[in-house]
Amino acid sequence: MTKAIRVYGVVQGVGFRPFVHRLAEAHGLAGYVANKGSYVEIVAAGTEDNLAAFRRGLVEKAPERALILHLEERETEPFPGEGFSISESEAAQGSRFVPPDIAICGACRRELFDENDRRYLHPFINCTDCGPRLTILDEMPYDRERTSMKSFPMCAACAAEYHDRASRRYDAQPIACHDCGPQVYLLDGTTRGAEAIRSVRRAICDGKIAAVKGLGGFHLCCDATNEMAVRLLRERKRRPTKPFAVMVRDMAAAEREAEIPDALREVLDGPEKPIVILRRRKGGRIASAAAPGSRRVGLMLPYTPLHLLLFDYPDGCVMPDALIMTSGNPPGAPICRTDGEARETLLPLADVILSHDRRIRVRADDSVMEVYGGGPYMIRRSRGYAPLPVVLPSLEHVRDGVLAVGSELKNTFCLGQGGLFYSSAHIGDMGDSRSVECLRETTARMASLLSIEPRVVAYDPHPAYHTARFVEELGLPTVAVQHHHAHVVSCMAENGWTKPVIGVAFDGTGYGTDGSVWGGEILLADYKEFTRIGSIAPFLQAGGERAAREGWRIATGLWRGETGTEAALRLGLGNEEEISAQCFLLDHKVNTLTSTSAGRLFDAVSAVLGLCRVSTFEGEAAMALQFAAENWDSEGEVFDLPALGMAEDGRLLLPTTALFLEIAKRRLAGESAPALAAAFHASLAALVGASCRAAREKTGVSTVALSGGVFQNTLLLRLVERNLRESGFHVLRHRLIPANDGGLSLGQAVCAAARAADKN
Ligand code: ZN
Ligand code: ZN
Ligand code: FE
Repeated sequence: MTKAIRVYGVVQGVGFRPFVHRLAEAHGLAGYVANKGSYVEIVAAGTEDNLAAFRRGLVEKAPERALILHLEERETEPFPGEGFSISESEAAQGSRFVPPDIAICGACRRELFDENDRRYLHPFINCTDCGPRLTILDEMPYDRERTSMKSFPMCAACAAEYHDRASRRYDAQPIACHDCGPQVYLLDGTTRGAEAIRSVRRAICDGKIAAVKGLGGFHLCCDATNEMAVRLLRERKRRPTKPFAVMVRDMAAAEREAEIPDALREVLDGPEKPIVILRRRKGGRIASAAAPGSRRVGLMLPYTPLHLLLFDYPDGCVMPDALIMTSGNPPGAPICRTDGEARETLLPLADVILSHDRRIRVRADDSVMEVYGGGPYMIRRSRGYAPLPVVLPSLEHVRDGVLAVGSELKNTFCLGQGGLFYSSAHIGDMGDSRSVECLRETTARMASLLSIEPRVVAYDPHPAYHTARFVEELGLPTVAVQHHHAHVVSCMAENGWTKPVIGVAFDGTGYGTDGSVWGGEILLADYKEFTRIGSIAPFLQAGGERAAREGWRIATGLWRGETGTEAALRLGLGNEEEISAQCFLLDHKVNTLTSTSAGRLFDAVSAVLGLCRVSTFEGEAAMALQFAAENWDSEGEVFDLPALGMAEDGRLLLPTTALFLEIAKRRLAGESAPALAAAFHASLAALVGASCRAAREKTGVSTVALSGGVFQNTLLLRLVERNLRESGFHVLRHRLIPANDGGLSLGQAVCAAARAADKN
């Protein structure tokens, strides 16, 4: 009997074909396995029993990194040949699974430090189970000749391993060794190989700043245990307080520095190796300048052989076991990818630059996640995760390709077709022209890799977004997706939820179509449409761009009607001149917008409590407020506030201004900042709960989706989730898709596909 089996899923670049080959031989089957781009095809001939056992093994014994989404099986004409083989790749049309990069595996790591191994200390060691994938891909299907490794012809020894089915490197596309692989070098033009690695290690030991080319871009790197070195990096990068990520040598160093919940141990040390934001432990050695004023620290483990060599090399240099590893990019711009970009951007910042000649084709920043509910809660989804798709069978029949161009800040894009939605790695902030260029370049590359030809472009209709020009250039039919609708849909899609929801979208910078700033909205939404059924109480936001960074301006405005300027002065929101200038703007409506931005409300409370008057990076004030609340060791007080109000358009209004005034009044009376920060979180969560109950009365919908950048605040998320559960709601929240604007493109793409579904 001969069977043709099609396997859909992550089955390329994860050692799937060699696995099939071994399995088929073990069951005495003849036939072949082939990479068809969108799926792997197996033709297998043998007895019925053997075929059945083979079929079971496919699912049960698949390589760890493989992910089988769907399997089709049918009987076919008898296979004429003998033996089992891997046939050469031929691309097929349709959806494809582009493999993400995989951190170095345990076996390669052992060989890297084995003096008797022929790849001893080789910075590019990899195998079928590990190594670069997406970042070196030119074209699909994934084969050496279609990657950056094309310029490194295999030596005889590597070729033998590549073709030897018993080898760990059978069919490993980026296979390399000292004789045939890429080389590291310093950008000084002369130092190469081992000497380059030794000089960088020395520089780091001496407290200098290095730039190091990694998997998806350059990092800036220094000794994380050296307070002076970290401060030097802060000065040069002009980044006064935003936390730096730290790469620790191993799990032991990670345990010393931070509390690691059991469920996160596997994630931290898993094949994706993301940055995980953890609670710091007392007695850690990481300099406080790594994350000033924070009790948390973002840790990751080494994920390339070169990283491992930075920590361990037989050169007598005693290296620290923790290194700052921060993306090498100008603020808001994409991470540096080429030597040219590194020279231009990083030369002024770094004392030494370590590069190599394996080209990076697609950028990938490190993924960043927090811990929530015992699992990962994504902040930035990039290396290791992008571009794995979100699968929505309900939109499987939509054959038209969709491109969603994402948001202004934390931009990602998303390509969708046939119910598969591929979100890109992090791009950057669109205010920087280099980010727009990267978006342009990467959408084209990914569209070709995934073989999706976009026929519709989904975008955020905000008039000031820099994505608008790019959308115009594409010259395709467009679908405008309102910012908060996109947030809510991204949360629904991540959860595979297709029925209507009450969507709570809280963020900082969502603009409405009516010239006002929205950012604290409650929507009734499905994939296609939404209606606004509630919001936080509108307030005046004066001072333009600066109001988004300076919480004291928002606080002054919120206070205006009630207590006048005197209270603002007493709490030190500003000096007399500043306060009266701000009041002038408000009184004369100069540079003033009506706002329901939940993000700005957090900024205002943070300012009033003396935690953060002016943010130096997005989210700083809200983070300070969250940390203060977490420092309060009992439950926050839930204030008695007025009932929900109603706006002229009939939507519910959360009495958030009353909440602000209560906080301010108590602060003036001398209550402690942590207690009030905790009360703010608890009271706001209670207001969200009350408004969702009112929305349920109105609509009969009892599922709530929580999205928007404010829900990066895991304390607020926990309180809101608890409140809603206690009221019998079914709660959807994010996990691996960010709640912030990084997740927006997924929502846009799903919305556009759902609308296109009507036309099909
Ligand atoms: Zn390996
Ligand atoms: Zn070789
Ligand atoms: Fe947003």
